[in-house]
Amino acid sequence: MRVILKIQPHLLIKYALLLALAVAIMAAGAGLYLYSHYARLVDKALLVRPWDRTPTVYSAPTRLFPGQRLTASALANLLYRRGYLRSSRLDRPPVFTMAMDGRSVTIANERDWADLRPTPPVPVRVEFAENRIARIVPAAGASLPVFHIRPAVLAAQQAGRRRARVPFGELPQNLVYAVLAAEDQHFFTHGGIDWQGILRAFFRNAQAGGIREGGSTISQQLSKNLFLTTERTVNRKFSEAMIALILETRLSKEQLFEIYANDVYLGQCASFSVYGLAEAAELYCSKSVRNLDLAECALLAGLIRSPNQTQPLRHPEEARRRRDQVLAAMEDAGFILRPERAVAAARPLPAANTTLLGAVKAPYFLDYLATRPAPAPAPDGTAPVVMTSLNLELQQVAETALIEGAGRVRAVLRGKYPDEPADSFQAAFVVLDAASGEILAMAGGLEYTTSAFNRAASAHRQAGSVIKPFIFARLLDLARRPSGPALTAASVVVDRPCTIRYGGRAYRPHNYRNQYHGAVTMKTALAKSLNAATVLFAQQGGFPQVAEAVNQLGFSGRAVPYPSTALGTVDVSPLEVAAAYTVFLNGGRRLPPSSWRAGTAARPADGPAVFSPESAFIVLDMMQAAVARGTAQNIGRQGITWPLAAKTGTARDGWFVGLTGNLIGCAWMGYDDRREFPLSGGESALFIFTEFLSRAGDMYPVAPLAPEPPPGLTAGTVCPVSGRLARAGCPTPETSWFVVGTEPRETCLSTH
Ligand SMILES: [Zn+2]
Repeated sequence: MRVILKIQPHLLIKYALLLALAVAIMAAGAGLYLYSHYARLVDKALLVRPWDRTPTVYSAPTRLFPGQRLTASALANLLYRRGYLRSSRLDRPPVFTMAMDGRSVTIANERDWADLRPTPPVPVRVEFAENRIARIVPAAGASLPVFHIRPAVLAAQQAGRRRARVPFGELPQNLVYAVLAAEDQHFFTHGGIDWQGILRAFFRNAQAGGIREGGSTISQQLSKNLFLTTERTVNRKFSEAMIALILETRLSKEQLFEIYANDVYLGQCASFSVYGLAEAAELYCSKSVRNLDLAECALLAGLIRSPNQTQPLRHPEEARRRRDQVLAAMEDAGFILRPERAVAAARPLPAANTTLLGAVKAPYFLDYLATRPAPAPAPDGTAPVVMTSLNLELQQVAETALIEGAGRVRAVLRGKYPDEPADSFQAAFVVLDAASGEILAMAGGLEYTTSAFNRAASAHRQAGSVIKPFIFARLLDLARRPSGPALTAASVVVDRPCTIRYGGRAYRPHNYRNQYHGAVTMKTALAKSLNAATVLFAQQGGFPQVAEAVNQLGFSGRAVPYPSTALGTVDVSPLEVAAAYTVFLNGGRRLPPSSWRAGTAARPADGPAVFSPESAFIVLDMMQAAVARGTAQNIGRQGITWPLAAKTGTARDGWFVGLTGNLIGCAWMGYDDRREFPLSGGESALFIFTEFLSRAGDMYPVAPLAPEPPPGLTAGTVCPVSGRLARAGCPTPETSWFVVGTEPRETCLSTH
């Protein structure tokens, strides 16, 4: 028997349709499920990594000042790198022009960078003579003592990687075209996946016999870079496409392009990886991304496909060939005209920025910044522009000084202590603005790439003698109380081996190298950093009072009432020391260190008052004696003639603090494992400061130390042995400052 399944033709169509519908519903369900899966993934990622809110971190604005060592062309280069366009349209800042004779540069800022006011200031003309700035003349008004230009982008911090970030609007049109031509011609019109492109690639691959040609859009590449590191279980290509489609619904084309432009990997350069077109522009072309010419735009866009095979420093031929391919693709796409392409293709490769190579800008400072509370995002939720306190010029000087100073000390160590492992010590240096407490420069170690531990901010070591100025300032304040000790800068103790009994224990202070000086004034005790004399003075004021003063200075370590506290047993970091020394330049007020720029050029001192202005001034004068005839005499031997105050410190490590009229520098040298460093602060850390100061004046308006005595003080010239008024026959007399009424009135009677 034949069973005939008799189905009407129209029923067959109906079943087929129903089946198709079921399949379609299932597919739609699966699609919906997948869509929501990937949408959740994307939304979660967008929440965790809010690019829009990643702050762009800037250095402090660069200061130009008469006397600065700079040529017109060097300034032009600097302005290029800071994003100024060279244009005579001074009404469209930020721009600059250079005079035909090369002797002046005229700059128009978009805002007043000194105090961040948005009101555009008048253009200024910077005039040069003999490789220095001669004058800074505004279009109207008198010549300026200082003029600020745009700061440098330090970094945007993101997922442990640092990079300069630029908004879409700052990218030159040609760069956008070049990236489109090189990677994804139809980016601005497709919906995340370039179906036409895939089709084209498919046919081309088929013709070429199965060699795969990329069809990845910019959105797909972004998906891969940003999302698929943790999502390896699913089919990568499929996930990539799904995420690309969803990304397109969440962000605008401009936002997507901006993230891509800032995140794209562009090769290995010396010790670090280059991410983003802005960083690549600075490194490979020595200029701001805003100023790239057509050839440079094509060069950078060409790097994206295989960054390390076309890296222009290592593979100039490959880089050039790829650049010319991109130029051709730009012409094909109608982005540029044939003559433009010809001109660009004839250009040589740009010169790389050799000073940036191998050096991330201020890496220790950026690490430190990451530990500070970040400023809030702008009210509209966009990326905040964060101006830091870092002065890039002083930072470079500070880093050089650290290396040079360490090199000198290494040579001394090798000569004096051949058994000492001269290569294993470390160093740190921090520079503060004396009037605001702002951190201008920070070097946390000799080489960031080998040791990122930030000794400037995070290493806490015994302060040693750098504590002494605070001890004396407190003693002088105590002397002004009705029942206080009768102490002045001319008070005398006998510096000798002695035993101090305190709290049932005996303490024997030792002088450096066991050298004692007999009868000395307080001023000499500080200038020569005499331990025995300091403890004897402190005993007169009381050790609890001394410890209390130390505990008001913002150190992380706590001081206890004990004789050795006067010799700096408290643990401190170089940054804390530098900040504590602000008391001497701010009338006894301590300014906390700050890493953000407040906005105004000079902020009034608003820290807590730790000492009276009189005592702060008297001790500052004593520290000038340390430079003239005390433990910091090596400064003069280095040919530095700035009026300075300084204090050395020799605990297990070498310390040095130097004060000019507007800068405070604190240098440290020692071993990470806390072994005893064999040199004193005046023979070690001091050289970091002298190397710094001998270069800083060329880059920054360093003010000499010229403190004004507060009212109610009087100067007197005293015998350094008796502390009474000096007469003929006394050893070299010393001039000290006294609160009126406490100055010595009797003449020295000693027969010296
Ligand atoms: Zn005398």
